[in-house]
Amino acid sequence: MQVHKLMDIRRLYKTLLHSQNNIVQSTDLATACVCENLFKLSYPYGVVSGKDDFVVADTVHEIMSLIALRIVPEHWKYGVTKDEVAFVVHSIEQDSENIIQQVIQKTRDRVQSEGRRNKPLDHNFEYDIRDRVYGILTGLTKRIMKKYECPKSVVTEITITNVSKFHEGTVDAIFEYEGNRYGLVDWKTYDLNPANSSGKEKWQLLANLLLANYRYAGNEDEWTNCLFGSIIFYEGAFIPRLPLTEKAILKIKKERQFAYDMLCGNNPKPERPDFCAVCDIGKTKSTEECYRYHQESYLAKIGQIPADYDRIRRFTLATRYKICRERGETYRHKFVISQMIQEYGEQEALNLLEYAKIIHRNYRFEKVGDCNHNDSLVYLVKKDSADKQFYLEPRKIVRIIRKETNIPLFACVSKSVSIHDVKPDILIVDFRMYTTLQHAKEQLFYGDPNSYELIVIPDEINLTRRMLYPLHKLHRLAADTMVPNLVFDNNSSTSPSIDGVMDGVKS
Ligand code: SF4
Repeated sequence: MQVHKLMDIRRLYKTLLHSQNNIVQSTDLATACVCENLFKLSYPYGVVSGKDDFVVADTVHEIMSLIALRIVPEHWKYGVTKDEVAFVVHSIEQDSENIIQQVIQKTRDRVQSEGRRNKPLDHNFEYDIRDRVYGILTGLTKRIMKKYECPKSVVTEITITNVSKFHEGTVDAIFEYEGNRYGLVDWKTYDLNPANSSGKEKWQLLANLLLANYRYAGNEDEWTNCLFGSIIFYEGAFIPRLPLTEKAILKIKKERQFAYDMLCGNNPKPERPDFCAVCDIGKTKSTEECYRYHQESYLAKIGQIPADYDRIRRFTLATRYKICRERGETYRHKFVISQMIQEYGEQEALNLLEYAKIIHRNYRFEKVGDCNHNDSLVYLVKKDSADKQFYLEPRKIVRIIRKETNIPLFACVSKSVSIHDVKPDILIVDFRMYTTLQHAKEQLFYGDPNSYELIVIPDEINLTRRMLYPLHKLHRLAADTMVPNLVFDNNSSTSPSIDGVMDGVKS
């Protein structure tokens, strides 16, 4: 093993600044496509737009991610007629009953253990979930089954990272066909309306299509084998024409660069869209926050902010920009591994990284659960039982990747887990979520355990949003207490109009 190559790894870890390592998630990229100011509100400002219905939506997502793997293909009816739709949907629902009940029960248990007393589950909770699953299955059957043949396999909830384009996303489901062809599906589960008019879901789908191209062709601009991309909503689907127009692709790439620059602290100037999809339609939470932040920076610019408040304002802003830059730390391992692969090719890079104890490759799947009926634990054992060395530690977060043939490493199926315990030849990992464990069983650990390779890499939990939000709240609190009228009184006669504020900021 050449020493200079090992030195390269150390050098990479040292020289990669976290401000360069940021990666843009498809969902955030979609926000930037709708409005750059809206992106800036979430990063770095930390304003979270509240959707109350996450529990129902997430539970439906979980159910769909499990039943799409096997049950949906088993009942696939290519060219289904209008009269047959209800029958196909009903038979999928019947075969999914066990999964639906399990996921609903796990959600109830989780909500109860989290002690959400101030926000208990609605008494329509179960009805809502079943109704939305019915609506999504109907949309899938009516639009996708009718037009496309049964896929040979399905992967769900797959995280794809294209490090060289600093882009990552988790795709709800990819339907795989013979000849390396594929179709991508996003479930829209959080309300009953078609894809919304702000276009965020559409942009997210388009961004994810670039990632799917990367997974199957190694190149985000290679559309040859992409059959379709679709947002499935209640009893319907949005299916854009492919390949995407040059204009749409350029827009995604431009906004990806903008989002990356913003996260890295390069402070690009956000542009307000010609038609402001939120503020021109009606007053929403985002409109109000956008107005307040713009008004404030306008007043700061013309020297109208009291000095003591301005100090707090500057402090919270500087801290938020710093947190965004440090978010890059989450992705440092992926950047190092990716750069090594670019330099030495995948096999040699993996050998070097294994030798340097950055990745771990000698494990195979053994079993789920232990003698204490702890069903969230998975046992991985060393393939070579004579190898008694181990370098992993309990409580660390790792990502387990199942290496797939001809697919880039960070586009292969993978799951992030915490280490429960490590022994000389056994690694015990904890899949805390019931659904994640089911995904792992179906997508990571299927088949003869000696016939596939598992790669364990270090991973981190991204806590950026959780750190930014309190700073936004602190900023608001300071404003409300110290300058209640001067800065934020929308009705004040001295307050400029939103257009005046925007113009002031742009100039
Ligand atoms: S209010 Fe308008 S400019 Fe501000 S974030 Fe919303 S869409 Fe963008």
